[in-house]
Amino acid sequence: MKWGLIGASTIAQEWMIEAIRSIGDEVSAVVSASESRAEDFAKHNGIKKYGTSVEELLLDPDIQAIYVSTQNHLHKVQSLKAIGAGKHVLCEKPLALSVADAAEMVSAAEEAGVVFATNHHLRNAESHKALRRAIQGGMIGKPLAARVFHAVSLPPHLQGWRIADSDNGGGVILDITVHDTDTLRFILNDDPVEVTALTQAGELSVNGVADSVMGVIRFKSGLLAQFHDAFTAKYAETGIEIIGTEGTLVARNVMTQFPEGEVVLINQAGSRKLFLEHANLYETAVRDFSEAVAGRSQPAASGVDGLWSLATGIAVVESANTGKAVPVVLE
Ligand code: NDP
Repeated sequence: MKWGLIGASTIAQEWMIEAIRSIGDEVSAVVSASESRAEDFAKHNGIKKYGTSVEELLLDPDIQAIYVSTQNHLHKVQSLKAIGAGKHVLCEKPLALSVADAAEMVSAAEEAGVVFATNHHLRNAESHKALRRAIQGGMIGKPLAARVFHAVSLPPHLQGWRIADSDNGGGVILDITVHDTDTLRFILNDDPVEVTALTQAGELSVNGVADSVMGVIRFKSGLLAQFHDAFTAKYAETGIEIIGTEGTLVARNVMTQFPEGEVVLINQAGSRKLFLEHANLYETAVRDFSEAVAGRSQPAASGVDGLWSLATGIAVVESANTGKAVPVVLE
């Protein structure tokens, strides 16, 4: 399958181009808002065609799939254009800056009959799949609580719009909390109903944009999930824990782009590591997307999954702004 990239982004360069090529698909063209960035990016990444016009890219009949990885405020308009042109779309998270916009994207794709997926990579990790399997297999009984440790150090080359411009969808919540939400939904097979949160505008923040957040999500089952997300934690370890009536699962070094980390089950019998056969998270995403386009399966994370994570993120933003618990609503 031939892909067009909308966005000369770091994530495309560091992970997605290689992932697309790894499954035998082709990256045909890239579009950037800047001619020189498009040219540099295309040359650096061995992409034949480049330009500044999304419309021209979408006229190419050979391109079936579009990967949207621009800044967050552009995802909606660019995805809708691609869907309108009959292309299948893999869009970066957050899908949009409002729940209504994301819902419009999901509906447009349904009406057009194209695949529309969200690039929530973490659910593709073997660690998170193992957590989901363990819970579904009853290894910890009824899940009661979860704790997510996702405080990281934002590298200097990404310290631009993410920490400075909330109009572009910057801030830690739409960047990281949406991933936590999707990962928890995947592991627990449960959906959020309500959130409460407090934010911090710490040492990386510009214009008061939140660079750290702590909060709690209540899920339909009654489970409470505590989360800590940050751009400012230079030496923190990531992880996730699920505490159940019959045992606890402790996963360490798993909120990451890399295929790594470990999962330990603790119960009456003691503690033991679960076997994990790590695989590249982004290759899995692209393979599943390609299979979905071929009509053989579903994408790893659908547009509706992206809608859920965004709705939760928006509720977290509102809770931090108002000091109140906020319901998670999909419309
Ligand atoms: P980048 O800042 O690297 O790229 C985003 C956009 O910024 C690019 O499309 C580019 O626009 C623009 N840009 C880059 N350099 C400049 C510049 N010098 N001046 C002006 N604009 C510039 O962001 P990321 O790659 O980190 O993130 C892109 C998207 O991917 C975001 O939505 C993010 O949330 C998501 N993401 C997802 C991850 C995942 O694992 N699923 C991980 C990381 C990010 P143009 O295309 O016009 O050149």
